[in-house]
Amino acid sequence: LFLLVMPLGQAVSAWTQLQTGLGALARIQEVLVLEPERDDVPEAGGAVTTAPRVPAAGVPLLELDGVSFTYPDGTRVLDGVSLTVPAGSRVALVGPSGAGKSTVLALVEGFYPLTGGTIRWAGTDVRELPRAALRAQLGYVEQEAPVLAGTVRENLLLAAPGAADDELWAVLADVGLTGVVQRSPRGLDVPVGDEGVLLSGGERQRLAIARSLLARPALLLLDEPTASLDARNEGLLRETLSAAAADRALLVVAHRLSTVLDSDQIVVLDGGRVVARGTHDELVETSPLYRELASAQLLV
Ligand code: ADP
Ligand code: MG
Repeated sequence: LFLLVMPLGQAVSAWTQLQTGLGALARIQEVLVLEPERDDVPEAGGAVTTAPRVPAAGVPLLELDGVSFTYPDGTRVLDGVSLTVPAGSRVALVGPSGAGKSTVLALVEGFYPLTGGTIRWAGTDVRELPRAALRAQLGYVEQEAPVLAGTVRENLLLAAPGAADDELWAVLADVGLTGVVQRSPRGLDVPVGDEGVLLSGGERQRLAIARSLLARPALLLLDEPTASLDARNEGLLRETLSAAAADRALLVVAHRLSTVLDSDQIVVLDGGRVVARGTHDELVETSPLYRELASAQLLV
């Protein structure tokens, strides 16, 4: 349970250590899902033991309402950020490096307490929800994918114990990793990391995306999923995300705007504040910063 309360950096290194014992991690994850952490649940008023049901498409699933955040070292990063991800919709968070995009995802995932404002899940303040119940509905893929251990199969089965090989191959195809796995005579049982395949940061991140797709969360939080991809694999992943968005919500952080052009809403963050929001076409008209980012990427 310590994974849930420690700062991101420590959690990541703990994750890395845990990866060395994948079986143990799978058991821990089962426990987390079955026995939600209760220390952040109010005593009175009937403790909530599971996250609220996912609402119908179009109804707010995730809401950030005036969220402010200062890192423990005093760095003020977010200032009154409000955004809504309706169920079944695809929202993108864009903006220059250092704007606070990754921090938004870390806060949704609950790595730090907010210094101001509220985050709601299906209308309920997340402080009233058992964190593990909420996390069971979230698929979070970090910008810096952790170092991996175990085999490709073990890594994927963490998300979906009992998934058939066909499903594993299908999701590997969705993220453009079929080739690298097929080239090994051991196939799905090829080890990852130093001993095997999937060494690059981009490959590790795509395996993490595959894993989160298999888990079918209500909301996928993806941090720069295409930053290290070539154009062909970016196109492939873009199609995969469109397909994934058919039955779940997506909140995608992207520096590369081509990844998020077709989002239902694009939120532009600069210096920790929301400076514009709209569709790509709207933002090209209304936001000088967005236009600048887009023209630097030859998109307008
Ligand atoms: P983005 O993802 O938009 O590039 P981040 O959310 O990663 O931006 O970072 C926003 C700001 O917060 C940056 O100034 C960064 O240096 C700072 N920051 C990020 N992580 C930490 C941390 N763990 N402790 C202190 N400051 C941090
Ligand atoms: Mg970032």
